[in-house]
Amino acid sequence: MILVLGGTAEARSLAALLVAADRPVVSSLAGRVARPRLPVGDVRVGGFGGVAGLERWLDEHAVDAVVDATHPFARVISAHAVAACTARGVPLLRLERPGWSGLPDASGWTWAADVTAAARAAAALGERPFLTIGRQGLDHAVGPLADAHALVRVVDPPEIALPPTWRVLQDRGPYTVEGERTLMTEHRADVLVTKDSGGDLTRAKLAAAAELAVPVVVVQRPSAHRTGDVVHTVADAAAWLDRLPR
Ligand code: NAP
Repeated sequence: MILVLGGTAEARSLAALLVAADRPVVSSLAGRVARPRLPVGDVRVGGFGGVAGLERWLDEHAVDAVVDATHPFARVISAHAVAACTARGVPLLRLERPGWSGLPDASGWTWAADVTAAARAAAALGERPFLTIGRQGLDHAVGPLADAHALVRVVDPPEIALPPTWRVLQDRGPYTVEGERTLMTEHRADVLVTKDSGGDLTRAKLAAAAELAVPVVVVQRPSAHRTGDVVHTVADAAAWLDRLPR
């Protein structure tokens, strides 16, 4: 059985490929989002209980291989996958979509090491930031941007109290350039803050920001504790699985 650690579009695509090929697969979701987009095939939801819990799960379900297709900013589960798979001798593949640093406009962006640094950079650049960094980590943005008129886009409502000048927009991609242009124009956004999530689903904001000459602040990916094979596309992940002995 193949365990796909998910929560991303790539994980859903991989699960669909494996189900179509009649390969036994279980997708795992953290359970953070109230109404997640579910992959096809079997799905389990919730943490494993640390490395030991994941090891137990691998044993109990006779897992032949793990594909860690989690989000580039979800580093804890990735580190746990490395530790548990190493301990149990289970082959592990990291499927990680490329970041946006190769896009034509990337050289003009301000790169920040973390959300706090990004929020400080945004505070220096504008007063009406458009924050697209997700719900987790928003608390780190509040201090530097407490007086700003921020538009915060999240899938689920934030769990912390936000400054009264901030406006929350609940929405979920994919987004279009036209929609992003309209949103940024209506908000009169003067700086965009994003994570280097990569992928196509949420990329339109970058094109819209370029058109509107809105400066962009990008939170760099956290460094990874990584061993083993890494691929960047779903097709390469499927090919890696095909090469495993059955
Ligand atoms: P994280 O900090 O790396 O993980 C924290 C804990 O959540 C893990 O120790 C694990 O709990 C549990 N967990 C995370 N992913 C899991 C999965 N796929 N299946 C089962 N348990 C999981 O993760 P995060 O940044 O909170 O992200 C949570 C999930 O949301 C990830 O699966 C990720 O793909 C998705 N996501 C994250 C972001 C982001 O910006 N961080 C964006 C989009 C989607 P135990 O220790 O109990 O096993």
